Amino acid sequence: KPKLELVSLCKEYDNGSVIAVEDIDLRVEAGETVALLGSSGCGKSTTLNMIVGLESPTSGDIQIDGKSVVSVPPGRRNVGLVFQDYAVFTSMTVRKNLAFGLEVRGKYVLEINRAVEEVAELLGMSDKLEARARDLGGSELQRVAIGRTLVTKPSILLLDEPLSNLETSARLAMRRELRRLQSEIGLTIIYVTHDQVEALSLADRIAVMNAGRILQVEKASTICAMP
Ligand code: ADP
Ligand code: ADP
Repeated sequence: KPKLELVSLCKEYDNGSVIAVEDIDLRVEAGETVALLGSSGCGKSTTLNMIVGLESPTSGDIQIDGKSVVSVPPGRRNVGLVFQDYAVFTSMTVRKNLAFGLEVRGKYVLEINRAVEEVAELLGMSDKLEARARDLGGSELQRVAIGRTLVTKPSILLLDEPLSNLETSARLAMRRELRRLQSEIGLTIIYVTHDQVEALSLADRIAVMNAGRILQVEKASTICAMP
């Protein structure tokens, strides 16, 4: 069974005058990283929003572990979405930021502390837990944003242009960090980007999108082998 399957997925806006996503089919295996690659406006974010449950499909189905989730609310899908803009509270400490998603879910303090410290260690931020977010650099902020989602232990992680606001050196460091997450916790990742190099360096397979459709899905290794 695939971890995630999109079946003839469609999303229209404004009574059908805008077709944001048109008849997408995609199977993603557990532990796989698939990049959705395409230029602005091709339907990448809409696809992620439907997977996490922030938007409902106009038609088609979304299945996780073989079960349809279109009528399951976002908080119950076990899918984590990391937005492009960091969604980090800058006046709070790193610890408070990481704990937020568990506090709103009413978890116990001891459980929250354990989860926060685990994720901080995974992200190499154990020594930054008491720092204010506003004092962090760009790639550290991005790690906090990813960490805020990871504490909820999603089985699928959706990343929407997570590195596009970073400078080159921070971007390379974050790429390494993401590769480590892939291998250490075997997350299933859908990675949205308009950057071909980034898609090639992080994804197992690349789904090329244009005007709401997936044009082709290729293994990253075969694309690398092309002249
Ligand atoms: P991408 O993430 O690839 O940049 P989007 O998924 O954001 O693309 O958008 C796909 C298309 O759907 C675009 O033409 C966009 O203008 C349109 N769109 C997205 N959200 C809405 C909305 N809420 N209402 C109307 N049109 C929308
Ligand atoms: P719960 O089931 O825990 O009560 P809900 O399903 O009611 O949570 O979600 C509350 C709101 O939180 C949603 O409408 C959505 O805006 C946001 N939300 C929930 N889960 C996520 C997520 N994984 N990523 C982004 N936003 C989310």
